[in-house]
Amino acid sequence: MSGQGGLPLEAGSGRRAVVLLSGGLDSATTLAAAVRAGWACYALSFDYGQRHGVEIEAARRLASALGAAAHRVVRLDLAVFGGSALTDPAIAVPETPGEGIPVTYVPARNTVFLSMALAWAETLDAHDIFIGANAVDYSGYPDCRPDYLAAFEAMANLATRAGVEGSRIRIRAPLVDLAKAEIVRLAIECGVDPATTVSCYQADAAGRGCGVCDSCRLRARGFVDAGLPDTTRYAP
Ligand code: ZN
Repeated sequence: MSGQGGLPLEAGSGRRAVVLLSGGLDSATTLAAAVRAGWACYALSFDYGQRHGVEIEAARRLASALGAAAHRVVRLDLAVFGGSALTDPAIAVPETPGEGIPVTYVPARNTVFLSMALAWAETLDAHDIFIGANAVDYSGYPDCRPDYLAAFEAMANLATRAGVEGSRIRIRAPLVDLAKAEIVRLAIECGVDPATTVSCYQADAAGRGCGVCDSCRLRARGFVDAGLPDTTRYAP
């Protein structure tokens, strides 16, 4: 089926799905779109030692406001390994555009998160996992690419009882081909209040964005390109 706003999203018809929810605009939009399409959404967030921990509080509020059937926050300390500006306080968040894969890439993060989502999906007898990955206006993360998501889906069908017994597991990334402006429009259309989401890599304790990191810049440009007022809260 074709969803409203040109987003093709299969009708959930009450089926259960696990939805990765970071507290940012993209994952909130994914959750809202999935709920609107009739999926019973089990939202999953990770307290992984990220420097923008305030996003967990945003995720809790969003799960409730957007109608998730349940929400779990898993503690999983990726800061034990570090290796990213998001998990190692000694690595600064870049405030100007750079080349290549940025230091805000968290090693294997989406593989870790999707694996946990897969485990929860099996226990829920859910066969669908939603992720807000985007491959258009994004930061160059290898684990946001469609090829990666297809490979994870293939693995999931080999790895699980559901897959072996003939229930196909699907990784659904409804935003993957959308430009940031399209995501902004979809967010508004689905009833997401952008001011309640936290995208910034170094948001302050109140959840306000820095305005200069890669994530803030991509997001701000999305509002400009969409021709919509940016209600994001920025630190003074
Ligand atoms: Zn920022």
